[in-house]
Amino acid sequence: MKKILLPLFLLIYCCKIQAQKIFEKDYTKPEATEIAEPKPKIVAPGIGNAPPSDAIILFNGRNLDNWVMSKDGSPCVWKLKDNVMTVSLEAGDIQTKQKFGDCQLHLEFRIPANVKNTTNPNNAGNSGVFIQERYEVQIFDSYNNETPLYANGQMGSIYKQVIPLANASSKPGDWNTFDIYYTAPRFRFNGTVEKPATITLVHNGVLTLNHFEIQGTTQYIGIPRYEPHDKAAIKLQSHGSEVSFRNIWIRAL
Ligand code: MG
Repeated sequence: MKKILLPLFLLIYCCKIQAQKIFEKDYTKPEATEIAEPKPKIVAPGIGNAPPSDAIILFNGRNLDNWVMSKDGSPCVWKLKDNVMTVSLEAGDIQTKQKFGDCQLHLEFRIPANVKNTTNPNNAGNSGVFIQERYEVQIFDSYNNETPLYANGQMGSIYKQVIPLANASSKPGDWNTFDIYYTAPRFRFNGTVEKPATITLVHNGVLTLNHFEIQGTTQYIGIPRYEPHDKAAIKLQSHGSEVSFRNIWIRAL
């Protein structure tokens, strides 16, 4: 019996050592924390102001083909002049034909130089970028401007949810950039929120929202709320001020 037990014990012991080598990493070795695959996809960076190679161009100054009117899906009638697209006060909001979830979004916009003389102070420079048609990143004239009195409605706020970390506004007449990094909300099968949306905003190169957890739709009146949704459009707001846009691109993540 002993003749059998000893080799059997040795065999089990050797197998255990071998299994440890295979399944347990030796963290005294550098390769234990090195991951070879998968390699990230190649994305060529844009030169100068150009978008990265995998970006979807939403507006490059040539036409409005990627946009429709939000109210009825008809062709976009915002003004197009000198490679710049400008809000039509009469026509209303516009939105992309294409729908998006997680994304990196770049856009440039300009509040009219004469905004203080031509616009109701409550709408000075008012526009906005609605991510997934629901969550507004506010555009407003917040350069030397105390209106609106609620800071969670000024430029770069998630409207009525959060005050941006800084006011990096360009003066009216000069261009601003928004770089938005967005993770869409996740919903459970029963429609409740599994994970809220998050957003990071870099405004004119300044971090102004840092992975902010969006609380739901951005209401003028009432509390934010979530309703389950799938991918949805990027919407630009027409809200009493002739804000202009250029160089809009997005990377679906
Ligand atoms: Mg707005």
